[in-house]
Amino acid sequence: MKAIYPGSFDPITRGHLDIIERSSKMYDEVIVVLMRNTSKNYLFSEDERLEMMKQTCRHLSNVKCVIGEGLSVNFAKKVDAKVMIRGLRAISDYDYEMKIALANMNMAPEIETVFLLAKPEYAFLSSTTIKELASYHENVSKYVGDYVAKCLANKFKDD
Ligand code: ADP
Repeated sequence: MKAIYPGSFDPITRGHLDIIERSSKMYDEVIVVLMRNTSKNYLFSEDERLEMMKQTCRHLSNVKCVIGEGLSVNFAKKVDAKVMIRGLRAISDYDYEMKIALANMNMAPEIETVFLLAKPEYAFLSSTTIKELASYHENVSKYVGDYVAKCLANKFKDD
């Protein structure tokens, strides 16, 4: 069975990676999808985010990283995935995630949203927090892979 894991991954973190590794054991193929969303402001370009995703997931042979457009549920249909993975960190994620999952259920009842609970050590981790720390030149290597840590250091090197 094929699953997709959509997100903005600005940048991909060890919390995301944990969800991807666990999903890759549950499904034959996992497609990590950088969903294009022009209304948000991102620190990294699409190409940079995709490269960080690929570098972070390169040890996982059944995981592919791609860019997707439109609604994630339509992307799932397009690639014939029957499962959409989302990660839940705290109760604060639930409200937002439930609205999306219910809308998706209406649009495509054949696609199941599967929620995986964040590992406790990553439950407080967000891309936003990591960018904030990196902007003050704090060491973020506990929270992101080596390649992402380098990209973050590079982004903020002149600040
Ligand atoms: P989005 O903009 O769609 O929320 P993100 O890239 O921030 O995209 O997150 C993608 C998914 O990963 C979401 O389901 C989010 O809740 C989940 N997620 C984010 N950070 C973590 C983490 N530290 N542990 C587990 N899941 C996470």
